[in-house]
Amino acid sequence: MEIKRFQNVFTEGKCDYCDSNTLVLHRRYSGESLCSECFQERIEKKIYKTISKYNLLKPEDKIIVGLSGGKDSISLLYNLYKIQKRTYNTKPIIALSIDEGIQHYRAKCLEAANHFCSKYNIEHHIIPFKEVVGKPLDEIVKNSKQTANPRYACYYCALIRRRLLNDHAKKLGGDVLALGHNLTDIAETFLMNVLFKRFYLIANQYIFKHHSSETDKYFIKKIMPLMKIPEEEITIYANLKEFHYYKSHCPFRKTEPIVRKRVLDFIESFKQLSPEIEFNLFNGFMELSEILYNTQEKKDSDYCKKCGYPSGDTEYCSYCSFIRTLEN
Ligand code: SF4
Ligand code: ZN
Ligand code: ZN
Repeated sequence: MEIKRFQNVFTEGKCDYCDSNTLVLHRRYSGESLCSECFQERIEKKIYKTISKYNLLKPEDKIIVGLSGGKDSISLLYNLYKIQKRTYNTKPIIALSIDEGIQHYRAKCLEAANHFCSKYNIEHHIIPFKEVVGKPLDEIVKNSKQTANPRYACYYCALIRRRLLNDHAKKLGGDVLALGHNLTDIAETFLMNVLFKRFYLIANQYIFKHHSSETDKYFIKKIMPLMKIPEEEITIYANLKEFHYYKSHCPFRKTEPIVRKRVLDFIESFKQLSPEIEFNLFNGFMELSEILYNTQEKKDSDYCKKCGYPSGDTEYCSYCSFIRTLEN
């Protein structure tokens, strides 16, 4: 069944905020009608409010933004750039992109990322998988198919990208790494973790985790200022702003129909009955992650024999275990 991803459209009507009779977007989850200008203003306010409500940034923070070249990360970078100039005006933002090495896809995303950074004069770094782990993702996936236990492309991709983003953001002197995950991403990840009973992951994703000087040695603080905005609204916002972002999806989403995609389809179809479902899942995530984080047993971690990072109760961390299989 084809799932309808785009449920909101602009139609003739009256804007609830400025009273103009014009094209308005009707938000099914809240009942509001918004003209294009008021819609954009509300999205920007929501990002700013999320940052202040959850204390995501401090004035002296050096912000590194994970920039893929898609609508989410470009909208995020644009807003942080504006907020930082207006409110903080301290250290300039740096954009950090990871080039996984996905043919017919990533080069075009990086072109959009580059274009945006040049326009706003933002320092931009690109780290290719190939340079750090020796192979692009395409080759890693191809080789893994010849092994007894092949995994989906997203598994390798996420594992390596997470580490590279973290390490390079730290190298660049960052205090926070801002990521473009939106409300739909959070709802989808939460539901998936519930379905597979991965409660330790839910606990780990708690956004107010205690930061000790020990964990700060290895991991940068991550923030998600778009976490309260549905994906669909970010698409509308990025289009209204006429951002030059790369619109197509990663080809692995089609060739390897992972569970994540099915969970997303479920949320999208359920939204037609219950438009506020993503917000309910987000609130569920916030409550449950706090309970699980505060009640889980706090054990001392071992340290990876190769990179020295915390590795839970294993000899090697998951990143180094994977790199060892690559080397072998
Ligand atoms: Fe990587 Fe999967 Fe995202 Fe493609 S869809 S960029 S393989 S995580
Ligand atoms: Zn209006
Ligand atoms: Zn390691």
